[in-house]
Amino acid sequence: MKRRTEFAIVGAGPAGLAAALFLARVGFSPTIYERFDEPKPVGSGLILQPTGLAALDALGLLPAILARGNCVERLYGTDARSGRVVLDVGYGGYGNGRFGLGVHRAALFDVLHNAVLEAGIPVVTGAEINALRNSGDKIELIAAGGQTLAAADLAVDASGARSTLKPKASRGNEVKPLAYGALWASLKWHDDGFLANALQQRYERASVMIGVLPIGSIAPEAERLAAFFWSVRLADAEKLYADGLDAWKARVAGYWPQCQPYLDQIDDFDQLALARYGHNTLRPPVAERLAVIGDAAHSTSPQLGQGANMALLDAAALSAALTAHDEMAAALAAYARARRSHVALFQLLSYALTPFYQSDSRLIPYLRDTLVATVAKVPPMPALLAAMVSGTLLNPFAGAGLKEPDWRVLE
Ligand SMILES: Cc1cc2nc3c(=O)[nH]c(=O)nc-3n(C[C@H](O)[C@H](O)[C@H](O)COP(=O)(O)OP(=O)(O)OC[C@H]3O[C@@H](n4cnc5c(N)ncnc54)[C@H](O)[C@@H]3O)c2cc1C
Repeated sequence: MKRRTEFAIVGAGPAGLAAALFLARVGFSPTIYERFDEPKPVGSGLILQPTGLAALDALGLLPAILARGNCVERLYGTDARSGRVVLDVGYGGYGNGRFGLGVHRAALFDVLHNAVLEAGIPVVTGAEINALRNSGDKIELIAAGGQTLAAADLAVDASGARSTLKPKASRGNEVKPLAYGALWASLKWHDDGFLANALQQRYERASVMIGVLPIGSIAPEAERLAAFFWSVRLADAEKLYADGLDAWKARVAGYWPQCQPYLDQIDDFDQLALARYGHNTLRPPVAERLAVIGDAAHSTSPQLGQGANMALLDAAALSAALTAHDEMAAALAAYARARRSHVALFQLLSYALTPFYQSDSRLIPYLRDTLVATVAKVPPMPALLAAMVSGTLLNPFAGAGLKEPDWRVLE
């Protein structure tokens, strides 16, 4: 693609910011359009997997994110009543030194946003894009009120799970809302009774799930935080609020008494953000002069913790495809091809796994706690589960033009 090609990226989330950085790195001049007056992160914490970390490494941002995040070596879940271990997946231990990184969303946002500012990439704020319109050999960004805000050679829809811009002709355009969401809060980290390098969860069947994830700090050397979450059936959320904070805290402490130092930090339901999840996979994630990346192209429940990582991989893959091809249509087809299998597999896995942790089923969590917990210990299952959690099944690196770093040098 010619270096004077104009790119308009809609959305300053992880996908949009990373796409702008990847494009700028190879000499393009993208512009970001963000609806908020101040670009800002949404939500609490997440796990950066080896996939997302490799993308940040390619952007030269690995040291900055490592300085803020908290290494996650293991996902560990127990049954609240019996104490039986039902989930225990380690990242490394297979000679590759892989790990996850618990981060506050604000830390990921700051690292990417600071890099965007340093690279001099324009970010147009207060710019809510309501529609895209093909006009001659350009695509126009239309704001509320109908005025054309910009025209570009390619628009990149990075506007997240509730995108209204994604192509109507693609399959998977409709987002299927999921029955369960979660209440999330970022709280001061307490290690008493908690593993410093693990995502820990407690369950009762699949209707109760409590999680504590150490997420490091928002800025280097700042106070250490944990993401705390409580799974909730959305239809029950109003009743939960009506029953009051004390009743909810008593329930949590009943399942997991060590959470008390976290519960003591919550004085109001306002401190807990209610996250709703939806599932969709856009096929193909491209149309004429339009590429769709991140949650706009594929959203799901955070059960497998891949969303932000897939967004970063999409950004890398799009830039690689635009660099490798002179024709726009060929570049867009190459982007769609590069991400197709990996996205399809992880969307399927997330969809299939969600009822094991968030559903009203009694049978599925019973199988999780008995059959699956036993089979998971038998080789090659531990290595396979580690690759699944890492997001590294089907080698997503090459298609995105990335090389996985040698993690062992960081140990
Ligand atoms: C509670 C929760 C926990 C999660 N945990 C994990 C995890 O552990 N690991 C993981 O990898 N992922 C996790 N995810 C998913 C992850 O947060 C998303 O996959 C990721 O944020 C997607 O990035 P994005 O840039 O595509 O979209 P977003 O982060 O949603 O960013 C979209 C941006 O576009 C802007 N925008 C929207 N519409 C417009 C418009 N019309 N015009 C202009 N701007 C617009 C928005 O303001 C926003 O800045 C979790 C998600 C949730 C909700």
